[in-house]
This record gives sequence, C-alpha cells and structure tokens, in this order.
Amino acid sequence: MITICSFVFGPFQENTYVLYDETKECVIIDPGNNTASEDKKMSDFISENNLIVKRLILTHGHIDHINGNKYVFDTYGHLPEVHQSDVYFIEKHLSSSTMYGLPAQQSPMPETYLKEGDVIEFGNSKLQTIHTPGHSPGSITFYHVEEKFMIAGDVLFYGSIGRTDLPMGNMDDLISSIKNKLFNLGDDMKVYNGHGQSTTIGFEKLHNPFLI
Ligand SMILES: [Zn+2]
Repeated sequence: MITICSFVFGPFQENTYVLYDETKECVIIDPGNNTASEDKKMSDFISENNLIVKRLILTHGHIDHINGNKYVFDTYGHLPEVHQSDVYFIEKHLSSSTMYGLPAQQSPMPETYLKEGDVIEFGNSKLQTIHTPGHSPGSITFYHVEEKFMIAGDVLFYGSIGRTDLPMGNMDDLISSIKNKLFNLGDDMKVYNGHGQSTTIGFEKLHNPFLI
C-alpha cells in the first residue's frame, strides 16, 4: 500500500510528492524545493521515515517542478527521468529561472527517459505511466490502478486545467489528454496535481468549466 506525502515548495506553490510503501522504498516526483530550508524539509522527512530513494521522476520539465533536481541528485544520487519532449525545459532551466528572477542551480540532465507504458517499480509497488501532452509536450501522468490515484502534474487541477500559453503548450492536445486518457481511468480515481488541492476524475467530469 502506497503512502503519498506532499510538500508545497517554492514561489509557485508547487506540490512535490514522495511516494513510499511498506518496504520503505520511495520515489520522489517533481522536486520543487529550492531553498536550504525546503531541501531540509524533504530530506528530514526521508530520513525520519527511514526511506530509501529509488528514483527521481518528473511529470514534466517546467522550472517549478525541477528546482530540487540538483539537491536530490547530490543527496541521493538519482538523475531526473522525464519524457524526451520535455528535455528542452531542463536544458533551459537556468535561463528560465533568470527570466523569473529566481535563484536556481542547474538541474543535472536526464540519461533515461519516460514514455507511455513504462512501469515505475519501487518496493512492492508499481506505477503506470501515460503520456498526457498539452500543458507541455512531454507531460506524463503516473497512476495506480488498484489504489485508484494519479499524479497528474499540471495537466488537470481542481476546477481548472493546465496553462497552454507556455512554450510548446497546446490546448487541443491538453483537452484530448484529459478527455481521452485521464477520463478513461475511472471516476473514482483521485487526482493529485502540481498545484492546489487534489480532486477526482468524477468531480471534474461534472464540475470543471473547461471540460463540460
Ligand atoms: Zn508546468
């Protein structure tokens, strides 16, 4: 059984997730930590719970989701894994941060890439991977069939959807990803997203003004 821990990090109030199971193995998803106190908050949680970090995986490559990549690599030795179509954002990490006036340490570059159909294994647990482009071309959603949850990054929010005005965003792709992929995973699927509160597929089908 997976335990989902979330942190809210950085000026964009980004949700960082640590998922672990009874074996104490864990994955870090979208580390947005970029201050010493946020780094400590993450590593204290990991050490206090005796967790073993197995992988660093990203829903997408935007700066608010990757600022902690260097810290995670330096501390736990894992390079980030991302869809190949979002490598562009990791290459541009420092220039994007400068544009927003934010301090940042360049993320290490990925050497392995995520794609639809990948299975992310840690401990006794397996996450499925689905490609959900639109907010960014390489957006990935991780989900668990039996435990009925997904980590959707910035694709779908409570009552809203991801921005498509950033480089390589595409509204048609985003709506298609949500309606043709995420909606098929079941109304009782809980959605943990990149910003704000969690939701469910069933609630968004009924109430999301962008999708009705
Ligand atoms: Zn984003």
